[in-house]
Amino acid sequence: MLWVLGVVWFVACGPQLSPEPKPEPKPDKPNTEQGGGSTDTEDGEESSESYVVILSMDAFRYDLAEMYDTPTLDSIARVGVYSEIMPCFPSNTFPNHYSMATGLYPDHHGIVNNTFFDETTYKTYSISDKEATSNANFYKGEPIWNTVERQGLTAHVYGWVGIDAAVNGCKPTVAMSYDYRLSQRQLADKVIGAMCREDVEEIPNLVMWYFDEPDAVEHDYSPTSEQTRRVVEEIDDVLAYFMRQMRNSPVYDDINFIFTSDHGMVELDPDKYFNVYSLIPDRIQYYYNSNPVTLKPRNLAETQEIYEILKAHESEGHYRVWLREDMPEELHYGTYKTRIYPIVLLADTGWKVVYNKNANGGRPTEHYSNHGYNPYDREMHMVFYGCGPAFKSGYTHDRVFQNLNDHLIISHILGIEPANPNDCTWEDVEGLFRVE
Ligand code: AMP
Ligand code: ZN
Ligand code: ZN
Repeated sequence: MLWVLGVVWFVACGPQLSPEPKPEPKPDKPNTEQGGGSTDTEDGEESSESYVVILSMDAFRYDLAEMYDTPTLDSIARVGVYSEIMPCFPSNTFPNHYSMATGLYPDHHGIVNNTFFDETTYKTYSISDKEATSNANFYKGEPIWNTVERQGLTAHVYGWVGIDAAVNGCKPTVAMSYDYRLSQRQLADKVIGAMCREDVEEIPNLVMWYFDEPDAVEHDYSPTSEQTRRVVEEIDDVLAYFMRQMRNSPVYDDINFIFTSDHGMVELDPDKYFNVYSLIPDRIQYYYNSNPVTLKPRNLAETQEIYEILKAHESEGHYRVWLREDMPEELHYGTYKTRIYPIVLLADTGWKVVYNKNANGGRPTEHYSNHGYNPYDREMHMVFYGCGPAFKSGYTHDRVFQNLNDHLIISHILGIEPANPNDCTWEDVEGLFRVE
């Protein structure tokens, strides 16, 4: 039964500085009378520890909780904070989870998409290849679990992207790989088990956990389907159970809960399809037909010419195309030259554009849905809920912020220094927090 056991990693990276003690806050929690007992330590003094428990629900689009019955998430918004947020480009699972962890754009942390080829090592990174996901050489920056442990606190990570690898030679106290066989309830029980330990000293300061839904059901049936409604409402039921059980934690009053996501989702249309192959037949040696489509010409000297041909068909094909070096600044993409092919083509949101020898190859089926599109388009946006002593109460944020700021949010709550460098913007998240 090895697969149900968390892998405990004995950290080689010791603490380097101790965090500032945080003042004792007064919490707000959803759907519950204040419960969970006090946070007194053995010698009777009040604990000054802070805790963050952050769940990522894959592809929880910004409007799912408006469309469906989600009393638990609604009550978290009532007693805590809510913000619509946006992903980094490309709006796919791996780049974004690792941005949330490191506070860096994908160009800076190196996980430039779910799949890519590294020209310096001749190795392919792919989400389904455990050898690749465990190879620390792919990961740059410092994931928050290492930032936390380096500063003397403890982190448990259950299934978050990046946890397979010992980045900079370190792993957190608990590092469990993603396991699709675990139900949401089983995952919740792991977190409950960690946070409800009797011995307060054994309770981690940071827990990061992950649900692979509603992404999977949305891909197959669309965000507006009955199937997605069912899955979203089941998630909310699991969260109700989770929040009820968490009241048994001896540090309940000091826990800050975050429920968030990596990107949104859009339904495709079989008619919104364009194949660029016939424009540049057989002139591409390597390509990825994801969002974005990236192309490496057979003859690199033809890069400019191929780009210009594609550029001339942008409006007909419903895409934007750039030379890797000329990507728009707001996408923060294209500087990782050894991991991104020279031509980058991004379909308009809701369109499917491919380089495929077969004239109809890769055409989407009815209701198929996807992400990876421009993060500034609303369909790619997702949710951020926070509640607990650090967060304001009943507050809806005044701006849409990028999810890489999670690194800063967690650092701020735990009273530690964020990793340096990072791409986070304090002004974008400052308003979420209670003013002391
Ligand atoms: P995608 O929708 O292609 O961006 O990726 C979503 C899928 O990534 C999920 O359905 C999971 O199967 C997979 N996934 C998510 N996290 C991990 C992980 N840490 N390791 C391996 N696969 C993962
Ligand atoms: Zn995802
Ligand atoms: Zn997906």
